Amino acid sequence: MMPALLSAVDARRASLIGLAQDLIRIPTLNPPGRNYREICDYLANRLIDQGFAVELLRATGAPGDSDTYPRWNIVARLESGHPGDCVHFNSHHDVVEVGHGWTRDPFGGELDGDRIYGRGACDMKGGLAASIIAVEAFLAATPEWHGSIEISATADEESGGYGGVAWLAERGYFAPEKVQHVIIPEPLHKDRICLGHRGVWWAEVETHGRIAHGSMPFLGDSAIRHMGAVLEEIEHHLYPLLATRQTSMPVVPPQARQSTLNINSIHGGEAEPPDGYTGLPAPCVADRCRIILDRRFLIEEAVDDVKAELRAVLDRVQGRRPGFTYTLRDLFEVQPTQTDRDSPIVRSTAAAIERVLGQLADYVVSPGTYDQKHIDRIGRLKNCIAYGPGLLHLAHQPDEWVGVQDMADSAKVMALVLHDLLT
Ligand SMILES: [Zn+2]
Repeated sequence: MMPALLSAVDARRASLIGLAQDLIRIPTLNPPGRNYREICDYLANRLIDQGFAVELLRATGAPGDSDTYPRWNIVARLESGHPGDCVHFNSHHDVVEVGHGWTRDPFGGELDGDRIYGRGACDMKGGLAASIIAVEAFLAATPEWHGSIEISATADEESGGYGGVAWLAERGYFAPEKVQHVIIPEPLHKDRICLGHRGVWWAEVETHGRIAHGSMPFLGDSAIRHMGAVLEEIEHHLYPLLATRQTSMPVVPPQARQSTLNINSIHGGEAEPPDGYTGLPAPCVADRCRIILDRRFLIEEAVDDVKAELRAVLDRVQGRRPGFTYTLRDLFEVQPTQTDRDSPIVRSTAAAIERVLGQLADYVVSPGTYDQKHIDRIGRLKNCIAYGPGLLHLAHQPDEWVGVQDMADSAKVMALVLHDLLT
C-alpha cells in the first residue's frame, strides 16, 4: 500500500512541476491583492476534476476588500462517504511585491535543473502544489479511506490574513467539530515541523512637546529630546533585560529564542519634504515625536506584563524629566502559539518524515507569525502545524525558488499523513 502511494507521487512529478509553474504565473501580488479570483478559479477547476465540492468565498468587509481588489478565497472539500476525521491543507495564495535584483522572470515559473523560479515559488505556491499532488496521489492509490479532505487557498496572509484565514475562521471553517487536523505548507523545509510562533505586540509611543522658534528653543519643549531619553532608557535597561529572557520554544534561528524588540520607525518634528523639494526646512522645536515598537514575546511571558514593562520604562523617564508626557497606543497583538508535540498531526508528520527522508524530524517554532494564529485563536483548533517544502530564507527575496525534489519529498510526507489519519 505505502510503496504504491509513494510511487503515485513519483508518477506525478511532471504534474507537480506544471502545477507549481501555473500557480507562479498568476501574479497574486499583495498589496494590493491582484488576481485572487483568477487563482481561485484555476484551483477550482483542478479540484472539481478530483471530485471536490468547491466554495469560492469573497471576504466582504475585510480590510483591503474592494470591487477592484476583491479578497477571494477557495475552500474545497472531499467526503469519503465514511465517518472519520477531516485533514485540511491551508495555503495562502498571495505573494509579496517583486522588489529589485531579479535575474529571472518573477512570474515566468522558469524550470532550471531542480529549481523552479518565481515570486511565491517558495512562499508558498510550491507548498500549495505539493499538497495538491499529495492529495491526488493519495486518492489514486487508496480505494478505501474514511473521513474527509479539505484544501484551502486563502488571501492576504502576507498582510495579516484578515481577508483570508481569519475571515474563514470567524465563519466556522476551522471549528474543531468540522476540521480535526491542519497542515499549513509554509516553507519551513521538508524535514522540519513548525509547531507555532512567538507572540507579537505592536505599539506606538508618542512624546509630547511644545512648538517654538528654533533660535529660542528654551521657549518650547522638544518632543525629540524626550524621545531621546526614552530610547536611552530602552537601550540601557530594556534591551539587556530582554536578552536574559530565554524560551523553551525551539525557535529558529536560535537568536530569536529570547524576547526581542525592534523600533520599526521614528518620526518627529516637521514632516519630510516631498521628493524633489529643494527648499530648506523651517526652524521649529518639535512638538511631537513618535516611534512604532515591534515587541516579539515568548510563550513564557504574558502580554499584560510585556505592556506593563514598557509603561514602566516610560514612567521612569517621566520621573526624571519635569513636564514630560507621553501617550502609549496599542496597535496589534497576537498570542504565542505552540502545538503539543504529542498531538496527532505532529506525531503523524514526524513518522512520515522519518519514513520518506530516513531521518528524525526537527521541531521548530517560527520567530514571526503566520495564519496558524487565526486557526488557534479564532478557530480554537490546536492540532495544527506548518510543514512544507522550500527554504525560509529565500522567502520574499529576489530569484526566489523552490526545489522540485523538495516538493516531491514533502508531497510524499503529506500523502503518508493522509494515509495514517484517514485509513
Ligand atoms: Zn508564507
